[in-house]
Order: sequence, then structure tokens, then C-alpha cells
Amino acid sequence: MTYRRLLEATLAHALSYIESLDKAPVSATTNLTDLRQRLGHPLADKGMDATQVIDELVADVQGGVLGTSGGRFFGWVVGGSVPAALAADWLTSTWDQPAALFASGPAIAVIEEVCGQWLKELLGLPRQASFALVTGCSMAHVTCLAAARNAMLAKHSWDVERKGLTGAPPICILSNNQRHGSIARTVRLLGIGNDNVVDLPVNEQGHLDSAALRRGLQDHAGQPTIVLLQAGDINTGVFEPFEEFIPIAHEHGAWVHIDGAFGLWAAASPKYKHLLKGVEQADSWAVDGHKWLNVPYDCGYAFVTDSRAHQAAMSHRASYLTHDAVARDQMDWTPEWSHRGRGIATYAAIRQLGKQGVAELIERTCQYTHCLVTRIGALPGAEVMWEPQINQGLVRFLSAKPKATDADHDRHTDSVIADVVESGEAFFSGTTWRGKRCMRVSVCNWQTNDMDVERAINAVQLALAKQ
Ligand SMILES: *Cc1c(COP(=O)(O)O)cnc(C)c1O
Repeated sequence: MTYRRLLEATLAHALSYIESLDKAPVSATTNLTDLRQRLGHPLADKGMDATQVIDELVADVQGGVLGTSGGRFFGWVVGGSVPAALAADWLTSTWDQPAALFASGPAIAVIEEVCGQWLKELLGLPRQASFALVTGCSMAHVTCLAAARNAMLAKHSWDVERKGLTGAPPICILSNNQRHGSIARTVRLLGIGNDNVVDLPVNEQGHLDSAALRRGLQDHAGQPTIVLLQAGDINTGVFEPFEEFIPIAHEHGAWVHIDGAFGLWAAASPKYKHLLKGVEQADSWAVDGHKWLNVPYDCGYAFVTDSRAHQAAMSHRASYLTHDAVARDQMDWTPEWSHRGRGIATYAAIRQLGKQGVAELIERTCQYTHCLVTRIGALPGAEVMWEPQINQGLVRFLSAKPKATDADHDRHTDSVIADVVESGEAFFSGTTWRGKRCMRVSVCNWQTNDMDVERAINAVQLALAKQ
């Protein structure tokens, strides 16, 4: 009875949010002070009715929930949720199984096992690679690079899991200098240290060139080395030439890790997968579910070819745990012990979309990104800074001031972005790329349609006219 009234009320709230996405402003319509005031109820002595908790919660967050799950949100790299994934996520919380062991949630363990195989097939990764479902690409990096740390130090007869890093040969990571910030935190967590991450310059095309990579490898010859390659640069969506680079790194005995947070998904499209040619030769891959696949947060995937190193880095045995001899126990592969059955939403999303649906989602969002960038870039006072190859592109807005400097254009660009966001019609975020402020155009949501794109272009046009 309690549940029925509560969950029916919650369903009504959820539907009213979803059904208003098209009309509601995509940006916040309230501010920090207001939110603190509304949500900061004094900690009560006595509890209250659950339905009232939810009703008040919904009222208190009014205007502070962005339209990230709708089709007009183009900030950062933010996906929505395909309907089956959202529904499956509700069930995940309802079932509330600890996804640590087969014994603690048999169906959930098998769902994750199936997800791993499907994901490898969709992304074109080796079938025998081990995998983990984690909270996002950041933890996928941690998982993969913990495996890399194990394997690279084992080659130097150093058992890092037993001895730690004190006294170990220092690991170095070679990567292009545009890498995502999540790597900096990964190396902090793993004790590798940011001084051991070597910046290699990118060329005009926005990726490493082979001479820079070879030089880096030669400079660090004899050292345990990880080469980090980007599958989808955060600003430009650019890919490194994997087919050429991975064999070079392997010749030098390095481990190759791929940051494919969103970009690896391009491999699921027959039209775009050529951009990832050779990526399957890497040693580990980190990718998000909650961005381009459109499953709810928190969801990322780690894949590792050396399953021994992966398991050595993550698994733990304790007398009170019941390990299964045949089934897959998730905690042998994840950095966490108890966690939610995050495979369920992924499973549902992939079943709803099928291979074709995933490919269409990728292709459609790439097409919309291209359309947004070229049409916004063609508006008077705008210019295209990066024409998208996939679903990330950049535009910039030029100040009309006489003798305007780069600083004027930067300020003008930020001011146009702020006006567009303020309009509530579309949400874009800014970035500094090659020293210049730009507006990022990133389309990751399965819902974005022709009308959303027209509305976004109109919003930018209005913001430009207002300046
Ligand atoms: C988003 C992103 C990450 C971090 O992923 P989280 O899921 O936010 O942890 C890493 N690399 C790239 C390229 C990204 O876009």
C-alpha cells in the first residue's frame, strides 16, 4: 500500500518531467541561494510520510534540474537515457542487488557477463578481453591502468600488488598533451604521479605524429611505459592513428591504453568505424555508457586483454565471501566491493537499440553536430573553429569592435554562450582551444531531432543579434 501510492506518485512526477522536456527551459531558472534555502531544511527529529518527501523534493528542485535528458542539451559530453535503460535503472534500485558476486545477485552477474560480450562485439574489441562495469570512464581508467601497472612492473620482476610502488622502477605514461583531465587523477590515485606523465605535442590534425611518439618511446627506453592514445579528443573528437601507433608502442614493449570515453562508440557504426582502425590491438580500453550509449549515470566500462593482470590488480579473496567456480564474480574485476547492478541499464539499452539502433544513434548525432557547427559557423559574426569528424565541433564568435583583439573575441564568445544558455532554448558550454575561447558543440542525446537543431541555431542567432 505504502509502495503503491508512493511509486504511482513518483511515476507521475517522472512523466511530468519527461513530458515537459520539449517546452521547459534547458538551463537553470533558479540560483544557488534559492536552492540552498529550499533544500536546506533543518535536520528533523521526526521523519515524514514518504510520498510527502517525494512531493517536496520535486517542488524544492524546481528550476534546478537542467534539461540534460532532452534533445537541446549540447554542453560538455552529456548523454540522455534511452527509455528501456531508464526503466531498467528503476528496476535496478527496486531489486537492489549487491553486484559483487554471483552469489549475491545471480541474475545480475549473468546480465553483466552478457553485457561484456555484447559491448566487445559492438565496439570491435577482442572477444577474450576481460571487462568491468564501473562508475564511468574515470574509474575505467583506474581499472585499466592498475592492470597496466601490474603487467608493466611484472616485466621488471616487481610484484606491485605485494610490494607497492616504493622502490619500484618508475612507470612513465606517454600521451598527447590534449588528454582528458581524468588521466591526471588516475595517475594520482595509482601512485604513478603526474611528473611521470610525458606530454607529447599534437600536430595540426590534433593528434600525435609518429616521430613524436617514437622519440618519447626512445627517451624512456628500458622504463615500464604506458602509451595513452585518444579515441575522440574532448574538443575535436579526433582519433590517433591506431593502426600505425599501436605496433610502434608494442615494438618498444609499452602497454597501450585507449581513452575512448565517447569516441570508441564510433566503432559501432559501419560509417565511422574506419576512424578506429587498429584500435583492437591495444591492451586496454576505457569507455563510457552514460555518454553516447545513453544509459543513466553512473556507467562506464573497462576492457583489458591481459585478464591475469586485470584480476591480479582487482580481485580479493576473503573467507566470508562465496566465490563461484564457474560464474563470473564482478568484484574480481571492479575496484568496488558492493555496487549497484549497473549492467541492467546497459543490457536494456542494447536490447532496445540493437546493433542497428546503436549505429543509427551514433550516425544521427554526428550528422546533427555537423549541421549545428556549419550552420552556426556560417552566421554573421561566427566562425567554424573545428569542423566535426564525429559528434564534437567548435565555433567562435567575433567581436564587431573596431580593431578587436583575440581577448575581445574571447569575451564576446563567452558572452554569446551565456546569452544562449540564458535563453533556455539550448545549452552549450565553452572551452579554450589552441589559446582561443570557443563554444563546444557536442551532440550525444538519442532524443535530439531536427526541431531541436533548428531551435538551437535560432537561439544562437538571437543571441548574436542581441550583442
Ligand atoms: C568524460 C570523459 C572522461 C571521464 O569520464 P567520466 O565518465 O566522466 O568519468 C574521460 N575522457 C574523455 C575523453 C571524456 O570525454
